[in-house]
Formats: sequence, structure tokens, C-alpha cells
Amino acid sequence: MKIKCPKCKKDAELAMDYSAVKCSSCDLDMSYGEYVKFVAHNEAIYSDILGDYATGAEGHTAGSLDEWD
Ligand SMILES: [Zn+2]
Repeated sequence: MKIKCPKCKKDAELAMDYSAVKCSSCDLDMSYGEYVKFVAHNEAIYSDILGDYATGAEGHTAGSLDEWD
């Protein structure tokens, strides 16, 4: 069946038994397990970028200075 190629975003072919993902546009050829990891990894990077954006405004809160009595 057709799925989205994680590399070139074109149509890749997933084998009926989920054993392999192949893309004729960019010569992608990996197992379905690798494909899932590849996609998850890419989305993790994307989340990190969004995460940095969100936490950037917060900054670091000062630690407790009460210890310096
Ligand atoms: Zn591709």
C-alpha cells in the first residue's frame, strides 16, 4: 500500500506483510520497524524545536538563595 516517504515526502510502497518500505523516488529501502523509528525520530526533533520555543521565554528561575544566610 502507499504511504508517505519519510525522506522525500513522495509515495512510498509498504509491503502487504509490513516487512519493508520502499520508495522509488529516493531509493529508500528499509524495514517497517526502521521506518517507524525514522518517522518517530523526525517527529522528536520537530517537538524539540517547538519545546525550545515554549521554554525559551520561561528562562531559568533563580535557585534558592536562602542557603546563604
Ligand atoms: Zn522517498
